[in-house]
Amino acid sequence: MSKFLTEKYQKLKPYTPGEQPKERAYIKLNTNESPFPPSPQAIERARAEADKLMLYPDPECKELAGLLAEKCGVSNDCVILTNGSDEVLNFAFMAYCDGNTPAVFADITYGFYKVFAELNGVPYREIPLKEDFSLCVDEYIQADGTVFIANPNAPTGLALPRTEIERLLKANPNRVVVVDEAYVDFGGESCIPLTEKYGNLLVVQTFSKSRSMAGARLGFGVGSPALIEDLTRVRYSTNPYNVNKMTMAAGLGALSDEKYFQENCKTIIENRAWTERELEKIGFTLTRSKTNFIFAKHERLGGEELYLKLKEKGVLVRHFSAPRIAEYNRITVGSKKEMEILIERIKSILEETK
Ligand code: PMP
Repeated sequence: MSKFLTEKYQKLKPYTPGEQPKERAYIKLNTNESPFPPSPQAIERARAEADKLMLYPDPECKELAGLLAEKCGVSNDCVILTNGSDEVLNFAFMAYCDGNTPAVFADITYGFYKVFAELNGVPYREIPLKEDFSLCVDEYIQADGTVFIANPNAPTGLALPRTEIERLLKANPNRVVVVDEAYVDFGGESCIPLTEKYGNLLVVQTFSKSRSMAGARLGFGVGSPALIEDLTRVRYSTNPYNVNKMTMAAGLGALSDEKYFQENCKTIIENRAWTERELEKIGFTLTRSKTNFIFAKHERLGGEELYLKLKEKGVLVRHFSAPRIAEYNRITVGSKKEMEILIERIKSILEETK
């Protein structure tokens, strides 16, 4: 840290992204990326855009916003496109939280919420999940602040039904509720259909997981035209060209290839079910994941021990050392082959540590 850093950032604890090691070829099951490449249409359209990189991208993202709005069943002024969904989440912290309106979220959820709150200097309150990691909506009903709910949640994988979110929206008409649906395509229920009815709902999604575009950085928010106008005001005050030309083109290609998207989601769900069965056979307890990852703990091996031993054997999973979840690992669902290797390596670790 230099002596020049302003005081407000000196205490900031930045988000720790999952490892992206280069020294060795790991089977990467630690950052919830897709094992499949982007749609061929996305690749082709992004390539074609490379020739035009001397020009700025369209700051309104008109064509992509139009297609996305059509897919979501909302009008064009109900969507905003961002540099990954992290960016729209940050915009929501900037727009809807301050000293009078704290951020409210679960104690075990996406770690970036706390960082965004701290970055923006806004107070936050963490509401503990229940013992089984489920989220009790009643505890958010009197929440005196802007609510952030990852649904399905990370790293637990658990999902709330849309009716539960609707109960919260009805009871909190004067507070914004942000529903982060990064993993919704793997078995969750999207709240996008509620955005027309509830002017306090912002739904956030990403192309990073189910559309295999984590490297392109494309996310979006869906909400009432008034909410989108707020977020656009913040966007134009930070970086109007937040979505680059190649990403925009790739997004159009990905959205045009519905079949590829559906098939990949189906394969991940099948691979998840297979891996869950195999893990249960060898002594793991799992949450009922509706995502592209599995949250698992072993009856004998500690969470960190398993993480380290798997790393030695060339398989990277994600371990969090926070108290209630330290015995768990979050394992991204990859290809069938990757899942077979994972199970085989875990079996050999169990054998070696008998
Ligand atoms: N929300 C949740 C719950 C996540 O796990 C992630 C991925 N780390 C994100 C949002 C952000 O994803 P991206 O910025 O790649 O869209």
